[in-house]
This record gives sequence, structure tokens and C-alpha cells, in this order.
Amino acid sequence: PLPTIYAITPTYSRPVQKAELTRLANTFRQVAQLHWILVEDAAARSELVSRFLARAGLPSTHLHVPTPRRYKRPGLPRATEQRNAGLAWLRQRHGHQRAQPGVLFFADDDNTYSLELFQEMRTTRKVSVWPVGLVGGRRYERPLVENGKVVGWYTGWRADRPFAIDMAGFAVSLQVILSNPKAVFKRRGSQPGMQESDFLKQITTVEELEPKASNCTKVLVWHTRTEKVNLANEPKYHLDTVTIEV
Ligand code: UDP
Ligand code: MN
Repeated sequence: PLPTIYAITPTYSRPVQKAELTRLANTFRQVAQLHWILVEDAAARSELVSRFLARAGLPSTHLHVPTPRRYKRPGLPRATEQRNAGLAWLRQRHGHQRAQPGVLFFADDDNTYSLELFQEMRTTRKVSVWPVGLVGGRRYERPLVENGKVVGWYTGWRADRPFAIDMAGFAVSLQVILSNPKAVFKRRGSQPGMQESDFLKQITTVEELEPKASNCTKVLVWHTRTEKVNLANEPKYHLDTVTIEV
């Protein structure tokens, strides 16, 4: 059978949230055997996301966990607790049986994913990697590959990172997630930009990485970011006569 792709997406309430989720669902809906794990950064599941998922037309799981207020600060990593909630759900769901073939990846809600990316990651045996566009202050970052093995990183930012790769640049087999039950994203001691390295070093080595996307020469995912919306003309009174979800 086709290995299931589990996409873990942390998401939080803001004016563009539903637009981002719509774009993401439109991509994911075209991927066979994909299970979307949407984790809200909130104290409860929101009506907006619940209604959205119910109509999204793809297999999904809706989780929530709030980021503690002390971690909501510029310069601190985002969505640590939400990604860990996704991992915990996967481990619990598959903990009691022999692992079904599956592949996990972390899909931020604002990135752009080509459909080819899913074909590439589907064959992940342990941990696979590929280039990411529009990240790290460059047009792209990528793993450097020699003789089919990752030997270094093309990056313009913190080249000392053990795995100089964005969250969007790797996938992990379900088997690896289950056989490393303690591997999680850490808050304590995690510097900005080190989330990926801190996580990956718990489950793999650079030598072991499987290069995808033609030996890491193709960009199939982009670290796009959405402009902050201008709401300067939102009325304080003379509100619309109807309440509309946006
Ligand atoms: N996110 C979240 N809570 C926050 C900020 C971000 O759950 O307080 C989510 C966001 O929806 C996205 C991921 O975490 O899926 C990464 O955030 P963002 O895209 O802002 O990070 P960047 O693009 O700067 O890496
Ligand atoms: Mn982003």
C-alpha cells in the first residue's frame, strides 16, 4: 500500500488564517493518502478551524495546545508545543500496533508546496531532505550531495548548524518516530534556528540522510511568508449588518 503522508501543521488565529488554510487544503486535497494533523495554537479548538476542516474534504485530525505566554516573544522559536502535540498523537495512534508505512513532515500553514514534493517524500526510508526556496536570506538553501550522500549545506545563515535546514526541508518515516519515542522539539536551550538541528540529531545523522529532488537540485517547497494585512479602515462603529467569517 502507498505509505500515508502525515502533515503536521501548527496554526494560529489571525486575519489571514482561513486564507492560508484554504490554500494549504487545496494542495493537500490533491495528494493521495495524506492525513492532515492541524494543531491550533489555542486553549481550545476554534469554531473557524472546526468548520473549515469539516468541509475541507480530506482526512484530518484537529488538535490544540496553547503556547505558554512566556514563549510568545520575538526571537523565540514558534510552534514547538504544537509540533510536539502532533508527534504525540502519531505515537499514541500507532503505539499499540506494528507501524503502518507512513511518512511525517512539518507543513507550516504559510509555505508553498509543489505536488511533486509529496511524490519525493513518500519514499522516505528513515529521514529524507531536499532544498527549500526563499529562506535563510537566500533564494534557496540546500543539502550538498556527493555520491548520493549529504556532505554539507549550501546556506547563508548560521552555517555552523549541524543540520542547516528549514522545517520545510525534511521528512521522517513513521517507523523512526515510533522507535525514537523521546524525540521532541525542545524549548530549553534551543536557540533561534536550531529547532530543526536539535530535533534531527535525536533521530539521525548527516551521513544517513536520504537526498530527494534529484540529489537536492530542485526546489519543490518555498518558505513563503504572507504580508501583514492592512486593517486600518476597519470600522469601530457603523458595522456591517451581517457577521461574516473571513
Ligand atoms: N505559529 C503558531 N503560533 C504562533 C506563531 C506561528 O502556531 O504564535 C505557526 C504558524 O501558523 C506556522 C508556523 O507556526 O504554521 C511557523 O510560523 P511562521 O510561519 O510565523 O514562522 P516563519 O515563517 O517565521 O518561520
Ligand atoms: Mn512561515
